[in-house]
Amino acid sequence: MSEQSEAVAPIIGIDLGTTNSLVAVCDAAGPRVLGGVASALMPSVVRYEIDGAITVGSQAKAGAMEFADRTIASSKRYIGRTQVEMQAFAIAQGVRLCEGPRGLAAFEVDGRCVLPQEVSAAVLRALRLRAEAELGMPITRAVITVPAYFDDAQRQATRDAARLAGLSVARLVHEPTAASLAYGLGRGAQVGEKVVIYDLGGGTFDCTLLEIVPKDAELETDCFQVLATSGDTALGGDDIDRAIAAHWIEGSAIPQPADRARLLELAQRAKCALASAESVVEQILLGGEIVSLSLSRAELETITAPFIARTLACCRRVLADAALTTDAIARIVLVGGSTRLASVRREVAKLFGKEPYLALDPDRVVALGAAIQGAILAGNRRDLLLLDVLPLSLGLETVGGATAKLLMRNTPIPARAAEKFSTSIDGQTSVKLHVVQGEREFIEHCRSLATFHLTGLPPMPAGIPQLEVEFLVDQNGVLSVYAIERRSGAAASVQIVPSYGLTEVEVDRMEADSITYARSDMHRHRVTDLTVHSRLDIKWITDALGRVRAELDPSYVADLEQQLVALARLCNDAERDPAAIDADLFSRLKQALDTSSVRVHEVAIAHSIRGSSIV
Ligand code: ADP
Ligand code: MG
Repeated sequence: MSEQSEAVAPIIGIDLGTTNSLVAVCDAAGPRVLGGVASALMPSVVRYEIDGAITVGSQAKAGAMEFADRTIASSKRYIGRTQVEMQAFAIAQGVRLCEGPRGLAAFEVDGRCVLPQEVSAAVLRALRLRAEAELGMPITRAVITVPAYFDDAQRQATRDAARLAGLSVARLVHEPTAASLAYGLGRGAQVGEKVVIYDLGGGTFDCTLLEIVPKDAELETDCFQVLATSGDTALGGDDIDRAIAAHWIEGSAIPQPADRARLLELAQRAKCALASAESVVEQILLGGEIVSLSLSRAELETITAPFIARTLACCRRVLADAALTTDAIARIVLVGGSTRLASVRREVAKLFGKEPYLALDPDRVVALGAAIQGAILAGNRRDLLLLDVLPLSLGLETVGGATAKLLMRNTPIPARAAEKFSTSIDGQTSVKLHVVQGEREFIEHCRSLATFHLTGLPPMPAGIPQLEVEFLVDQNGVLSVYAIERRSGAAASVQIVPSYGLTEVEVDRMEADSITYARSDMHRHRVTDLTVHSRLDIKWITDALGRVRAELDPSYVADLEQQLVALARLCNDAERDPAAIDADLFSRLKQALDTSSVRVHEVAIAHSIRGSSIV
């Protein structure tokens, strides 16, 4: 079976978005988006050149202002709709329509009528070529996603676009269904469980309520049924960009088109930058003058609030249509680039009374789900893991690159584990938490899953903060990591899908490695621990010695200093080459220092008590 899956071209998954499109594949290496980390999103923008050539994607988007009359964006809004239906919207967008066959809406380019399915076909073709180049074989079949509300005409037009692009459609899948598949929500979940998919993209908002239904293996039917859907076809990230631009030029004259385009681009950049920054300041050329514009997170919150309120109204409508309350919802999944806004996450959590699912990149969820559906249809999904137990251990990086495993492999899921940690450096106000997967003792041999920071700790000496870290894997295999510092109450969390992209073969290899390297790993782990603890001891003893040296016998001090130097040298050697260190000798040296340093600690403590009683 597996030899066959190597030879047969996969069925790719395509998220054909209004703003951005992506292509993904799910093969023996697991589901993944194609096109590289930075450039996976292909803007759904097409330029028709004078010589008949067609430019697609970021290049077409970059030239959209310069070649406004030959560049088409958002063709998805027009696909399968009539000119009469779309006329008012098109005028508002500054788009020139003409009438295609059967009254269909078409774009006027150079006096020619271009159908939306031709534009979408150009995007699909570019994605197909990307997949062929990356996978090194011809691709002819695809699963393509469409909004749940698309009618027959819109679906048929999407199929036509695929045919024009040289792709046969293995299945059209609802975007929310694809998102659910990417999260593995059908697996292990209870039949009857209800899931809400909240999708806020560039130009549209969709809220869909799905129910998990028994899967019919024979018919390969979806395991999700749409119960209710609602949305706003004129509500998305672009509206937020326009509102930011309006906030900047408040009161002044409407800028020239070129200024306006630059302003919108800047607004988008500032909005995205605020995901990590508190405020941004940018320079821009407006009306021939350099103007400095700024945006704070608080301002962005105020600007986005009315838009988010409208999305929440849609969510309430969906619940009302299905005659359900928020308690009935098991999961909320966020999809679409605009759900990166912190205020979206917060308000959605508030409405539903639970944290939304965030483990996957909201830009990629739909394409990944389409690829998984493709693999299911191609019959290639067999060699991928079913998550009934944890395939690999889950843990955290500790000092010196060692790992502390919280959940061991083969633990049945759902599973939960907690562990206490502290800091190793004085005055640390933030702690990096690095979540890893694998059997080996050191992070460099494990798979890095996520890194997040617990910030806002008041400065305390090393070893004093009380960090508690909890790992929680739910029945879908989504790992949530929560960290809290007990003394200050500072908290942080992250969600991850740990099984992603791992096949049984890889898991077997990681396990075999762990056995092969167990002895040397254990040795290194021990040496690393000894080094870390010795360094802390050396620091404490040296500090104490500095304070009370005068009260100690000089020969005792000389002895102690000799031991300190010897141990420090060993620590340095251990850091250079842990394999060459005799761990038993190291341990004996450390113990000897522990014993002989008792005196200096006693004197230091007595000294500090005396010191405080003077006051
Ligand atoms: P579509 O489904 O319409 O094709 P996407 O899901 O690709 O759209 O979302 C694109 C939108 O996401 C754009 O409006 C973009 O500005 C917005 N976006 C991307 N990253 C961020 C971010 N970090 N913060 C806020 N908005 C973002
Ligand atoms: Mg989308």
